[in-house]
Amino acid sequence: MPQSKSLSTDPIEQAFKLGEHWVPGVWRYMLPVALTDMTFPQERRATCLNCPRARFEGWRPDYRCCTYHPRVPNFLLGLALSHPASEKIVRRLVADGFIIPEGMLSSPSQWAHYLSDTGEDRFGRSERVLCPFLEQKSGLCNLYAFRNSVCSTFFCLHDHGDKGDKFWSSLQTLAQQVEMAIGQWALNELGFDVKACMQRMNSLAGKVEKVSDPETGAWTPYALKVIWGNFHGRELELLQGCADLVRKNRDRLWEIANTIDILEPNKLDRAAVKVVPRKYRSEIDAEYFETGETSPPRDIWRGFKVLHKNLWTLPAGSLALSPRARIIPNPQDDEQGKAFSDCSHVVEFRSRRNARDFEWREYLHADKAVALLWFTRRRKVNEALLGHLSTMTNQHASQFLSEWTGKKVLVRSLRQGSP
Ligand code: SF4
Ligand code: SF4
Repeated sequence: MPQSKSLSTDPIEQAFKLGEHWVPGVWRYMLPVALTDMTFPQERRATCLNCPRARFEGWRPDYRCCTYHPRVPNFLLGLALSHPASEKIVRRLVADGFIIPEGMLSSPSQWAHYLSDTGEDRFGRSERVLCPFLEQKSGLCNLYAFRNSVCSTFFCLHDHGDKGDKFWSSLQTLAQQVEMAIGQWALNELGFDVKACMQRMNSLAGKVEKVSDPETGAWTPYALKVIWGNFHGRELELLQGCADLVRKNRDRLWEIANTIDILEPNKLDRAAVKVVPRKYRSEIDAEYFETGETSPPRDIWRGFKVLHKNLWTLPAGSLALSPRARIIPNPQDDEQGKAFSDCSHVVEFRSRRNARDFEWREYLHADKAVALLWFTRRRKVNEALLGHLSTMTNQHASQFLSEWTGKKVLVRSLRQGSP
């Protein structure tokens, strides 16, 4: 998602690039330094300012995938208070009852709204669940340098298919875990007892219908008083305090995140189901009800590094075009085909070899189409193949291969001759 400008020169408040992707400045500090040396997929198809979902799938062109309520931790909201565009919004959200000590977290009613949207296939089309940080006219994100882990890692299409999806999901889990840990650490450091707050939140479980406004989704004044405790009326001060602590302890954030046991208001969370209309309860993820221990960030980091390696490891042996992939000339017989008129071909990928409908398709320039069609015959991966492919595609051969094997369009072939 595009950005609005940040005025600060402090790197913690400046978005920076991981590969081609902008991420919040605090990531320089809260995640392992080795992350900045990694090679990231480019995700060339998720062209947000020319969003394919809005162009071809009826999503709102103004909100696109921002039809959700991002969970933004307190310290990021505190950092956002230093910037004119986001400051106004954070102040308004506090005044309107959308912020609790951990940050901007969906209230039970907001969660119910979201589930009813997904149940009615309204994600991307919602009239009600809209991120308050999006500037509707320009499509700019007013929280860009401080946006959360989900917003920073979400791509609706992946250059590496499922492998790319897993890679970004793992990074999102890692960053989210660290965000939650740091948010709770900061609260305790400021004298806000997180454990006591969770108990107070759980005490609301029996009155869950009174916790949030069914129309606006805001936390009710009654719930806010209970949840904020001694800090009720000093909300901005607490957010600011969390941000200051994070600035001051920036070099210890990863270490801190690995020492915190994250607490959650499990009773209230379970009770929130009552607020969800019955017909949308099937939209709830099974893991929502799991209350097991969360993995420490360092364990998630280990798993993430394996996924990163898998993303770029060159396949051994021989490769061939998958029987589930069909490469045909671009027929230009629909809106999308016409919009990609500069692409000579399209690859259609099916869930089964002879399935009538394709699962996904991608338009190809002639060089890529020729290179993929070259794999109609089984090809052994070796130096000669890499050289040949680089010449054919004008792209680094290993990148070409990792992308198309990630999407399963090229697959390992064990037999001699045709796949
Ligand atoms: S991630 Fe996808 S849906 Fe969201 S704005 Fe970008 S292209 Fe559109
Ligand atoms: S914070 Fe920004 S990127 Fe995230 S949903 Fe809101 S507008 Fe979109």
